Amino acid sequence: MGSDRRPAAALEGVSKRYGETAAVADLSVTIEDGEFFTLVGPSGCGKTTTLRLLAGFEAPTTGRIELGGEDVAGVPPEDREVGVVFQEYALFPHMTVGENVGYGLSFADPPGGASRDERVAELLALVDLGETAERDPTALSGGQRQRVALARALAPGPELLLLDEPMSALDARLRERLRVQLREIQSELGITTIYVTHDQEEALAISDRVAVMQDGRIEQVGQPRELYRRPATQFVAEFLGENNLLSGRVTAVDGETAAVAVEPPDGTPVEFAVAADRTVAVDDRVFFCVRPERLTVGAGETENELAATARNVEFLGATTRVHLEWRGRELLALADRAIEPGAAVTVGFDPEDAHVLPRE
Ligand code: ATP
Repeated sequence: MGSDRRPAAALEGVSKRYGETAAVADLSVTIEDGEFFTLVGPSGCGKTTTLRLLAGFEAPTTGRIELGGEDVAGVPPEDREVGVVFQEYALFPHMTVGENVGYGLSFADPPGGASRDERVAELLALVDLGETAERDPTALSGGQRQRVALARALAPGPELLLLDEPMSALDARLRERLRVQLREIQSELGITTIYVTHDQEEALAISDRVAVMQDGRIEQVGQPRELYRRPATQFVAEFLGENNLLSGRVTAVDGETAAVAVEPPDGTPVEFAVAADRTVAVDDRVFFCVRPERLTVGAGETENELAATARNVEFLGATTRVHLEWRGRELLALADRAIEPGAAVTVGFDPEDAHVLPRE
């Protein structure tokens, strides 16, 4: 992102109420030009409403929405230069694939002086469906149909692409393939894209930045790695990937490391060394989290060690998920070797893999 670019979209204090329900509550965020930005969160957290507000299908109850630096209050969807793709394919069954894409040009001329036919051919080639213009959309697979819907949305050359769970009707393998294609197309065009999904893995995989939403609010915005490594809230820590959350009292702080006394359900406190990657003081009550892949099974070399029992073992091919019991608490670890259910195991983690959450 160059500093000379203006934000492609901005929401300032935007709320949307439906009667008693606050679908979106005081939401502020800026999306940069060319960014692939994802809204992720559980069902009902306000993702679709946010997208509909940006598209102009709904008006905010309060707040301001800017597209390309302009306030768009009162600007109808067709004048916002946005392309939208929904979850359902929404293609016209009585039109050919080419006609469906051409429909995207009903309200706007093709960009760059191209003819309608040229533009349709260009878009179909972009989504790798160059040979299908004369076909009936019902003869295409689900993934192909969504690529047609994408071509149709892109046909008029919108400034902003809005995608609402476009892959949720597809099977897992196809979704993975399509998300790579989608990201390639987005990068090639450099088009600012706002993507809605409830799938946290998809959000991490595809995005430049992700906003994690809950109850109509944004919990945290950041690059995927940053959100995964340094979640700002318990909700983010547990929603994005899996996590082991432990709480305790800070007993000592020594430069970059803090000692936290965790009291397991079965009694006496156990002290762990954790990274003091935010300001903590002695006697603070804190939560810290350790990712399952950072909880090394059979460690021996790590500073923090826990004697646990493997309760449940799931072999997943590339890895093995081990549900552990540690002094009356459940913990989750990933192992790269076979472990027998019921086995006594030592697990450990390095202080730098224990991230302290801010207090809520
Ligand atoms: P999902 O992943 O299930 O689509 P979402 O995160 O997209 O969920 P929204 O569809 O934005 O969530 O809905 C947010 C909240 O607003 C929900 O509680 C929903 O029931 C409510 N809501 C959304 N649209 C309307 C409407 N037109 N009338 C009344 N309530 C609505």
